[in-house]
Amino acid sequence: MIKFKAKYALTFMLIIVLLLGACTPQAGTNVTPPAKNPDQTQQPAPQDKPGDEKEPEPAAPQIDYTTMKPNENGQIMLLMYHGISNKEEEWVRTPENFRKDLENLYQKGYRLITLKDYIDNNIKVEAGYTPVVITFDDGLQNQYNIIEENGEKKIDPNCAVGIIEEFKKKHPDFGQGGSFFVYYSNPFRQKELIKEKYDFLIKNGYEIGNHSYTHENLGELSAEGVQKALALNVKYTQEYLPGYDVFALALPYGIAPKDEKFQYAISGEYEGTKYNNRVILRVGSNPAPAPNHIKFDAARLPRIRASEIKMGGTGIYDYLASFEKHPEKRYISDGNPNTIVIPEKEQENINKDSISDKQLITY
Ligand SMILES: [Zn+2]
Repeated sequence: MIKFKAKYALTFMLIIVLLLGACTPQAGTNVTPPAKNPDQTQQPAPQDKPGDEKEPEPAAPQIDYTTMKPNENGQIMLLMYHGISNKEEEWVRTPENFRKDLENLYQKGYRLITLKDYIDNNIKVEAGYTPVVITFDDGLQNQYNIIEENGEKKIDPNCAVGIIEEFKKKHPDFGQGGSFFVYYSNPFRQKELIKEKYDFLIKNGYEIGNHSYTHENLGELSAEGVQKALALNVKYTQEYLPGYDVFALALPYGIAPKDEKFQYAISGEYEGTKYNNRVILRVGSNPAPAPNHIKFDAARLPRIRASEIKMGGTGIYDYLASFEKHPEKRYISDGNPNTIVIPEKEQENINKDSISDKQLITY
């Protein structure tokens, strides 16, 4: 009798298990441990579950915050480059030094993101890593040079784009990004190749930004002059890239339009061309705040000069060293762009209105 009962119970349980296994790989929001459910990898498509409107939340990565110490309200370096050429100068980095910069960033746990992802708070670097943005002003030929070798056109391996592309091949997990702030009439100085270069840049995760029409000093211009200088840049960029969203401005000489004319650095119109800069970059000398930080102001973001000459403690290597000494100041990702994970004490520096649909987690 006892034996029979046990057998009956076992059979009954087996039936239950089989039934559950057949129809509940996605039931509820709990994630089934993989070992017990071999069907987990073949989850039915959403349309297989009529009436179940709530999709299960994606599994939260198992992160021990106290060990990894993410701080998604920490500082982010927006690096500013100009020339890449053979003689190192205040505003020129040699190809060797530029390679050294990328290598240092990579080895020290920095990962490239686009300026757009930074201001959109869409930071997707791996858990434990720090995002970094690189920018180039002036559209110089040594930033993007095309050479001919054996009758074939190729990217100069010693120009900025050539060096970044080579680096990304070697380290595919370095990320993608790089914003080129150009002016006209001849960005990158090979007129017949502008379109080809722009297409390549956009296709490969780079961005093209506004650096005014002819590198005007916006501080000296009238309201109309500022609008003309910024709208014409957009007009010409869009002639090469129809419909392209020129969303970022790097101020020429780091100088903004004066007083109430500053509004025209943000948006304006000239002869039918409108522009809207969702981010304005200064020359600056310190890291930028995280997008949810109370001090984040997209219209006034500082950049760090990527140079080792006349830096006075505010260059790329000064901050790399400083973040090594004070890792708590650095933005460290939790690996999930949908959550903002911060140490408890950072809470007072969070702009609550900026969180929107993201989840704020403190530890
Ligand atoms: Zn410039």
